Amino acid sequence: MKIAVIPGDGIGPDIIKQAYKVLNRVSEVFGMEFTFEEMLMGGRAIDEIGVPLPEETLKVCLESDAVLLGAVGGEKWDTLPGHLRPEAGLLGIRKGLGVFANLRPAILFPQLKSASTLKEEVLGDGLDIMVVRELTGGIYFGQRGRSEGSGGQEAWDTEVYSVPEIERVTRTAFEIARKRKGRLTSIDKANILESSRLWRETVVRVAEEYPDIELNHMYVDNAAMQLVRNPRQFDVIVTTNMFGDILSDEASMLTGSLGMLPSASLGEGSLGLYEPVHGSAPDIAGQDKANPIATIMSVAMMLRYSFDREDAALAVERAVEKALDKGYRTGDIMQPGMKLVGTEEMGDRIAAEIAAG
Ligand code: NAD
Repeated sequence: MKIAVIPGDGIGPDIIKQAYKVLNRVSEVFGMEFTFEEMLMGGRAIDEIGVPLPEETLKVCLESDAVLLGAVGGEKWDTLPGHLRPEAGLLGIRKGLGVFANLRPAILFPQLKSASTLKEEVLGDGLDIMVVRELTGGIYFGQRGRSEGSGGQEAWDTEVYSVPEIERVTRTAFEIARKRKGRLTSIDKANILESSRLWRETVVRVAEEYPDIELNHMYVDNAAMQLVRNPRQFDVIVTTNMFGDILSDEASMLTGSLGMLPSASLGEGSLGLYEPVHGSAPDIAGQDKANPIATIMSVAMMLRYSFDREDAALAVERAVEKALDKGYRTGDIMQPGMKLVGTEEMGDRIAAEIAAG
């Protein structure tokens, strides 16, 4: 298995180092073979090559089985024009890899319940929601513009979805539901928007291929409310680009800590892009303070979705739980009575807990 690795900027290299430890341990325990190729992107690529996403990086990523990304960006590059900023590399790589489904799990480990903003009785024994957001269509990519109206300037953005665009992300979501609790909620605004009516019709038609999955529909305003009222009713959520942008942030923040949140972006084949949700955290870079768990959980997603190794993915997720059970905490999730550890020690502790079965 060939993995293209982009450490990036800020804490990127700190957390990617822990991902290597985990993958090397997975290789020992499960007999999987990994080769790694480190590539440049973001601020470091701007400094060394002059562009945020070098052609060579995209080429190597496309030839790989999976891409693991740390984080990019930092103050040093903030004054550059938009197309030369590190974030342009992020949009470029997602587009270049053709990843149209963005998976953002919101997992609240029972050990970290007190980090959530929700009450204990709402959280029960923890949360595990998967938001599947359409990533390359909808209003963020539709036509937009301005004109002079009778009352002054007007501006518009257009939400356009085609049937194939809806079908492919819906199928991804159904497949994921099949690997989880078998429930899918499709979120739209079909009482108002024509694009949402097509979305719903298409989801209903695709559902005929998945009779084993329980499907329900929800309007986006209700969904935003239900996520804080009773989040445990959700298993997998599928929704449009803009609704998913908002709802995945809402869902993930129920878990309290940015340092715990992984993500995956998938396309047609098995090639996927795996990265923590957080940014490059320049304030703690190189200080052994970053929480590596979001990146390690992204590695678990890679094992599950690109390499189809549920056993290894579960082993990594269990190892994270065991390290938390033993009381190890990085600064961002520290609680009274727990043991404060740095990035390196957290990586070592988790890797050491990885076991088969
Ligand atoms: P950030 O996510 O980098 O940091 C926000 C806060 O959370 C900081 O206080 C930081 O120390 C903390 N934090 C983040 N990750 C952590 C971790 N793993 N462990 C412990 N604490 C952690 O967001 P920001 O400060 O708004 O952005 C910093 C830079 O990152 C900017 O240049 C921004 O453009 C970039 N960024 C990149 C990505 C990406 O690469 N995908 C995403 C978001 C922001």
